Amino acid sequence: MDSARKNLFEHLCSLIGATPMAKVAYTYKGETRHVHVKLEHYNLTGSVKDRMALFILFSSTRKGLIGDNCTIAEATSGNTGIAFASIGRLLGHPVKIFMPDWLSPERINLIRSYGADIELVSAEEGGFKGCIRKAEEYAEKKGTCFLPSQFSNEFNCKAHYHTTGPEIRHQLAHLGCEADAFVAGVGTGGTIMGVGRYLRKHDKNVKLFPLEPANSPTLSTGHKVGRHRIEGISDEFIPDLVKLEELDDILAVDDGDAILMAKKIASAIGFGVGISSGANFLGAIKAQEMLGKESVVVTLFPDDNKKYLSTDLMQDIPVKEGYLTPKIENLRIETVVKMRDIDLIKEEYTFCDKTL
Ligand code: PMP
Repeated sequence: MDSARKNLFEHLCSLIGATPMAKVAYTYKGETRHVHVKLEHYNLTGSVKDRMALFILFSSTRKGLIGDNCTIAEATSGNTGIAFASIGRLLGHPVKIFMPDWLSPERINLIRSYGADIELVSAEEGGFKGCIRKAEEYAEKKGTCFLPSQFSNEFNCKAHYHTTGPEIRHQLAHLGCEADAFVAGVGTGGTIMGVGRYLRKHDKNVKLFPLEPANSPTLSTGHKVGRHRIEGISDEFIPDLVKLEELDDILAVDDGDAILMAKKIASAIGFGVGISSGANFLGAIKAQEMLGKESVVVTLFPDDNKKYLSTDLMQDIPVKEGYLTPKIENLRIETVVKMRDIDLIKEEYTFCDKTL
């Protein structure tokens, strides 16, 4: 890799990852409890997917798989497209994105704003699987094209194994504790598998809970069932990266409950987060209810709310029987741990081959 390109990757390393962790207190069943949350909306384009996009592009460039001016083509439900569009352009690559046509218009406009070419795929054309097929056909025709293949590329898990996982461990150590459990809604599964494997390397008893929408449970059924509004997770099939045998119970959260919790997080503590953040927070509360109120449960807020301004996140959502959000009270931030507060970053933190 030439030094100009290496420089660009170094700039990107300063803009992605090393996100703050908040210890959030809440009251449930009359007790004060806490959940630890990585604030992933602090990444360059506002989502956790920047980590994966940067890690895949860096590792694949280093392996000689991406030449100068090579087009990056990917199937995505939004955040990945935004991440590749931004990072790809910064590195000088044309970017082509295939995306289902039912996702929020903010996502489409954002991807276009970075100069990427976007092709929308309808349910009749195969929906999500259609996007993957079309990306592969496009790459085949084009020749000089790189397919990150986020659903099957192990570098997606490794991004989290080498960055999100160590960050969580060091930030918890700064607070004098260790994770008992990690909860993450599953899109590609990169987050739960990568963070999970890293945490398990240090503690084989840590619980790893994948999360899915209760009203569209792909992981527990193996195929697409119904529809849901938690954009970014449960994309119609179980991705190759997801190894359910390495994970614990699948947690289920209703999409309406997730929307109500995302709204509550914004209005109570000022973190304007997306719908999957509400789902993850509810999943963490459920995990804590199973493991005991003192247990250290970690999750993440994958993105912010700006991509959802035209969606049901901004609507009045009726409370249904069984929803947890109305029972969660008195949300407040107890502590925020920034990565720069921490001087114990070890060689295992290997973003871009660089010990930060
Ligand atoms: N939430 C949002 C908003 C996302 O965009 C994604 C990624 N599709 C996820 C959660 C799930 O992350 P992962 O792909 O690592 O499973």
